[in-house]
Amino acid sequence: MQHIDGEIRRLVEDMFETMYAAEGIGLAAPQVGVSKRLFVMDIRDPEAEPRAVINPVIVERSGSERSDEGCLSVPGVYGVVERPTRIVMEGLDLDGKPIRIDASGLLARCIQHEMDHVDGTLYIDRLSPIKRKMLLSKFKKLQREAAGR
Ligand SMILES: [Zn+2]
Repeated sequence: MQHIDGEIRRLVEDMFETMYAAEGIGLAAPQVGVSKRLFVMDIRDPEAEPRAVINPVIVERSGSERSDEGCLSVPGVYGVVERPTRIVMEGLDLDGKPIRIDASGLLARCIQHEMDHVDGTLYIDRLSPIKRKMLLSKFKKLQREAAGR
């Protein structure tokens, strides 16, 4: 993405609205059917302001930890994913200015989860085949129940 225009700004506004309505902490453009390298996040921490990140790249990774993740694309289910503990991400903000975020904990996990979406991967793709199968069958059951069938 070279040029940040009005269309991108409106998309980012829509994505923040969608994320907050679903009580999520992050949302990537491919989740709303837009194939752009862009995501929004707000981990509801005063130390980490809400952000839109354009053309994100992870430039450093260290450590490893396992923690629960959920996803607005697969609502109602959770799985344990192993990821680096600390990362450094670079990208652009909505004004086209370079940003660099050194993150650990929930922020690092949120960024890596959203980066996966930007690259076309879901966290469930990182689970073992058996765990993924169990999680998806639970998800389908929840969907059937929600549909009243
Ligand atoms: Zn997700």
